Amino acid sequence: MKQFLVTGGAGFIGSALVRFLLENTEHRVVVVDKLSYAGNLASLAPVQQNARFAFEQVDICHRAELDRVMAHYQPDCIMHLAAESHVDRSIDGPIAFIETNIVGTYQLLEAARHYWNGMADERKKGFILHHISTDEVFGDLHGSDDFFTETTPYAPSSPYSATKASSDHLVRAWLRTYGLPVIITNCSNNYGPYHFPEKLIPLTIINALAGKPLPVYGNGSQIRDWLYVEDHARALYSVVSSGKVGETYNIGGHNERRNLEVVETLCDLLDELAPQQRAPHLSRYRDLITFVSDRPGHDQRYAIDASKIERELGWTPQETFESGIRKTVHWYLANPQWWQAILNGSYRGERLGLATPR
Ligand code: NAD
Repeated sequence: MKQFLVTGGAGFIGSALVRFLLENTEHRVVVVDKLSYAGNLASLAPVQQNARFAFEQVDICHRAELDRVMAHYQPDCIMHLAAESHVDRSIDGPIAFIETNIVGTYQLLEAARHYWNGMADERKKGFILHHISTDEVFGDLHGSDDFFTETTPYAPSSPYSATKASSDHLVRAWLRTYGLPVIITNCSNNYGPYHFPEKLIPLTIINALAGKPLPVYGNGSQIRDWLYVEDHARALYSVVSSGKVGETYNIGGHNERRNLEVVETLCDLLDELAPQQRAPHLSRYRDLITFVSDRPGHDQRYAIDASKIERELGWTPQETFESGIRKTVHWYLANPQWWQAILNGSYRGERLGLATPR
């Protein structure tokens, strides 16, 4: 049994990873999360009573707090997901991204390095810091046959992806310079349950149910490669269990879809699964689709070549886009209390009343 420390574990992917670890392994997990607007303890509700789970409300920019948590929990493995993650917010206010994604990662690396240096030799050998990153660090693709591989040069376009690229470089430097055992993964767009309603898929579902316009940037021709979040969580666990220190692994779902196609698929699923919730003046949910001015610097296409992780670690996604998107729509229809608490802001109030479990 190992002790995992998961930063950003109250976010979308982090909470999926924590649920996966506690439901499928014997390991202990401590979540380190500052509970920004994107952090939500309700996403950890299924595991909050688990005796192997602990939560620390800590900002990764605070080195002393990181030192305290590492000394107390003695992690064997740190999985780093805490980040500012929304591209549109990074365009409106890049500083928060610079602070958390760059400075926060630096503080975490330093805390981990000092903690690791002080470990007994036996445990030191098994220690890993796994940095979770994005395919957006590679910029965008224009040819339809091109794919991002682990050696594609970095060319980030947005403040978000530039800060994630910076954090990847810092992590590699801490390996090369200080010998800190690290692994990096770069993943494509995730979707699934507990996804914050500002992102394309949950926003579309929730707006459609409310009879509100479904905004699509530009002409909707941008292509993203979609991965069901639980497949990502399994991939991350296979990387820390069997991946090689110092390596990078790309993770992707082989599910390239144009943004407009994604929105149309969601509308068609809602016509099938929730026709009674459609506003009476609409003949189909697609009538709500509204094209809006394109995002500045919008990348045209992302596509991942995930053959290395498939070949070396035997990981493949279990969900197709069709099965995963159907599960996702079912989840949002079955769990309105989760996203309504975000829409009305009560999720932030609720969290204040929660005792920190230890
Ligand atoms: P998210 O925004 O849903 O969650 C981020 C979490 O980090 C939140 O719980 C937030 O409270 C926490 N956090 C933010 N700043 C913090 C700080 N200073 N200290 C401590 N905690 C802080 O993000 P996500 O979509 O779950 O993404 C998780 C990671 O995966 C990010 O590093 C992101 O770059 C990467 N990633 C995301 C995707 C995707 O499609 N969502 C794809 C590839 C990689």
